[in-house]
Amino acid sequence: MDRIFNFSAGPSVLPVPVLQTAVKEMLNYHGYGLSVMEMSHRSKAYEEIIEGAESSLRKLMHIPNNYKVLFLQGGATLQFSMIPLNLMKKNQQADFLITGNWANKAYLEAKKFGDAQIIASSKDQNFSYIPKTQKSDFRETADYVHICVNNTIYGTRFKPNGLPDIGNLDLIADMSSNILSEEYDVSKFALIYAGAQKNMGPAGVTVVIIRDDLIGQASIDTPTYLDYKIHADADSMYNTPACYSIYVCGLVFKWLENLGGIPAIEEINKNKAQKLYDYIDNSDFYIGTAKTEDRSLMNVPFICKNSDLNAAFIAEAEKKGLQNLKGHRSIGGMRASIYNAMPVEGIDALILFMQDFAKRNH
Ligand SMILES: *Cc1c(COP(=O)(O)O)cnc(C)c1O
Repeated sequence: MDRIFNFSAGPSVLPVPVLQTAVKEMLNYHGYGLSVMEMSHRSKAYEEIIEGAESSLRKLMHIPNNYKVLFLQGGATLQFSMIPLNLMKKNQQADFLITGNWANKAYLEAKKFGDAQIIASSKDQNFSYIPKTQKSDFRETADYVHICVNNTIYGTRFKPNGLPDIGNLDLIADMSSNILSEEYDVSKFALIYAGAQKNMGPAGVTVVIIRDDLIGQASIDTPTYLDYKIHADADSMYNTPACYSIYVCGLVFKWLENLGGIPAIEEINKNKAQKLYDYIDNSDFYIGTAKTEDRSLMNVPFICKNSDLNAAFIAEAEKKGLQNLKGHRSIGGMRASIYNAMPVEGIDALILFMQDFAKRNH
C-alpha cells in the first residue's frame, strides 16, 4: 500500500481503519445487500447509521441534553449566513473577533443582516496571534459573540481555557478545523459548527450543535431551508441528508471512541504538535509563524528562514510522499495540517525530511 502522508488542510487525512471498514462495507452493508450510498435515508438501516453517529458524537463531546445536533449541508460557509439569519434577532447586533480569513468571512456575512461589530482583530500582525479581550469590550446588547476557535490558515487557536470572557452573552464558535481534537466544554457555547472535511469525515456534511432555546427565532420570511427549526424538528432529515458523509463521520466517531475518546486523542495530538514545534523552535533554519502561546494543535505554519527555499522545500517533500504542505496563498510558506487522523509516523517522516533539507541547504 503506497499511501502518502497527506498534510492537506481539508479535505484531509482520514484514519486508515475507517477507510478499511468503508471498503469492507461498500458492496453489502451489514447484510442489507446494498451500499450505504444506495440506501433510502428513510430506511431502518440508515436510521441506525445517523442515530449512531449522533449518539457517538454526543458521548465524545459530552453534549448536554438541551443541545440539538444537526447534520446539515452547505459547508461551514453556509453557517456564516444561517447564524445571523436565525440568531441576530433581538437587537440585530453581533460582536466578532477577527482572527483570520474565516472569522472575517463570518463577520462580513453577518454585516448583511444587521449590526456586526469587530471587537478585536489580529490583522495588524497577519493573524499570528489571538487578541486579548475583556468582558467590557463586548456590547451587553449583542445577540451573540462569534469566534473562530482554530484558525486553519494561520495556525492559532483559542485554547479550551482561553475562551473570551463575554459574561452572559451567547458564544458562537466555528470549530471546523479542531472539533474533536481536544476537550472543549460544550455548555460554554450557544452554538458550535464545523464542516466535516477537516477533522471528522468527507466533505458534504456540516455539524451544528445548538442550544435548544436558540431554535425557532427565525422570522417568517426566512427561507425554509435556512431555518434551524426545520432541520431540528425533522432530525436532520427534512430533505435527503449527506448520507454517505454522515456514515463515514459515524465511523470516525467510533474510531475515536475505541481510541479512548477525546482525552486520548488530545494527548496524542499534543505530543504530535509538540514534537513538530520543538523541532522548528530548536532549528536555526525554520521559523514557526504563529505566536507560541496561541499555537494550534492542528495546523502548523512555518517558513524557511531563507524564504527563497520554500518552493523547493514543498516540491522535494511532495516527491518524498509528504504532500499538500504548501501554505495558504494569503500567508505563503508551508503549513502542516496534522489532524486527528495524521499518525505520529507522519510527523516523524516530516521532521526527518526537514532535517535533511536543512542540512543540504545550509
Ligand atoms: C475550512 C473552513 C471553513 C470553510 O468550510 P467549508 O465547509 O468549505 O464551507 C470555515 N471555517 C474554518 C475554520 C475552516 O477551516
